[in-house]
Amino acid sequence: MSFLDLSIREIHEALLEGKVTPLELTKEALERAKANKDNAFEKILEEEALSFAKSLGPIEKDNLLFGIPFVAKDNFSTEGIETTASSNILNGYVPLFDATAIAKLKEHKAVLIGKTTLDELAMGGTGTSGHLGYTYNPYDPTHTREVGGSSCGSAAAVAAGIVPFALGSDTGDSVRKPASLAGLVGFKPTWGRISRWGLFPFAPSLDTVAYFTRYVDDASILLNVLAGRDEKDSTSSTKTVEDYSPSETPSLAGKRIAVLKEINDSLIDEENRQKFNDSLKEMEKEGAYLETIEFGRELLESLYASYIVISSAEATSNNANLDGLKFGPRGEGKTYSEAMMDARTKGFSTLIKRRFVIGSYSLMRENREELFLRAQRCRAKVTSRLGEILKDFDFIYAPATPSIAPRFNETSDKLSALSLIADNHLVLGNFAGLPSITIPLFLENGMPIGVNLTGRAFEEKELLNAAKALENITGLKGLSIRMKGELK
Ligand code: GLN
Repeated sequence: MSFLDLSIREIHEALLEGKVTPLELTKEALERAKANKDNAFEKILEEEALSFAKSLGPIEKDNLLFGIPFVAKDNFSTEGIETTASSNILNGYVPLFDATAIAKLKEHKAVLIGKTTLDELAMGGTGTSGHLGYTYNPYDPTHTREVGGSSCGSAAAVAAGIVPFALGSDTGDSVRKPASLAGLVGFKPTWGRISRWGLFPFAPSLDTVAYFTRYVDDASILLNVLAGRDEKDSTSSTKTVEDYSPSETPSLAGKRIAVLKEINDSLIDEENRQKFNDSLKEMEKEGAYLETIEFGRELLESLYASYIVISSAEATSNNANLDGLKFGPRGEGKTYSEAMMDARTKGFSTLIKRRFVIGSYSLMRENREELFLRAQRCRAKVTSRLGEILKDFDFIYAPATPSIAPRFNETSDKLSALSLIADNHLVLGNFAGLPSITIPLFLENGMPIGVNLTGRAFEEKELLNAAKALENITGLKGLSIRMKGELK
């Protein structure tokens, strides 16, 4: 066990007591990063991280992030550091500024040690479409299983024990799904709670800065630093930021929790169903009131299709600036249109091209009513149904993924009827902009699997408290492969 394997507060205490220094932590994180074989990194920032760690003054008593190493998904702009979003179209692009989330972490003297791989431009959920190839699940050393995506490298880096936390982004489930497959806490706040300035947009009406930790407490600590209005992001909320500091005595007593029948019905993994049902009983023992309700099968079945239409439509217009002239490698051709076509043909993988075609097709005048506006109406219905449920209940509780991490040949980004609901319901949180958190529930043959809690908008504090109470029930805290020997 090294200091890197502890919670942020524990590392902070070790730093205060002089048991370890930021430079030692940074060096160890860099060694672990270099030894990692999961293809988690776009770039390991050895020189930058060492010089930043060396430049730090005395440990700041009330700054819990001081000297803590972390990594960020490569769709966060980092000043002076190439940022590609794992897309060939952005090879060589070096931002002139830091994303606000990165800037805040730097101000708090957390040490960025690497940029991590993602599904290209954050589209996709398998960790297979980035320009560096597959990212592997650290729990499967034979490299046959995915870690999920799109924040694949960030999930792998935390699960491999390289860093205590990692920034990701969540537009449909891109942090909360890999968190389930990698045995991590994956948290997305309310839409607008954390500034997205400098995060490459995918579908701005759904995008959130999100992150992985190994403890629910650490998720609270990070929100204290990251939440808040940012004049550079006009969609960031002006709502007062609460103190999200972890509760010492989190409790589920009196909490009303809705379980969605259709999600449970669509679970194909028996052990997952059993463990999930066991957890309901445990929560009841802690004084929670649980009720299984119907959301509406049709609405849930239409989630994925609506999500793909809305997110692809937004993505195609937001990524129109990737034309081979403004950023990355220049396209060849005599006219703007030829050069753009060349750059985009060479620069994007088939997944991206497919999504742009879906997006443009849905936005065409003759299709708009039938596709884009229909998807928007579906989103409005989903949001209003969620509103009804969250009037009666404090949280919605569900299995985060239908099964443990799939094998690479079992996985696809295309629409499939199998697990249509169980695999896509996390998008509920994005459609309505709600805070949502995945935490580990159990390990099946050594592979982790998580559960998800979603709460009311801007009630992150309540959600994090409930998640901590649930974490106390599962007892699965601080998971990483470094603890594998100790795991059942
Ligand atoms: N898996 C979803 C998709 O393919 C979600 C991506 C995300 O949240 N960035 O779009």
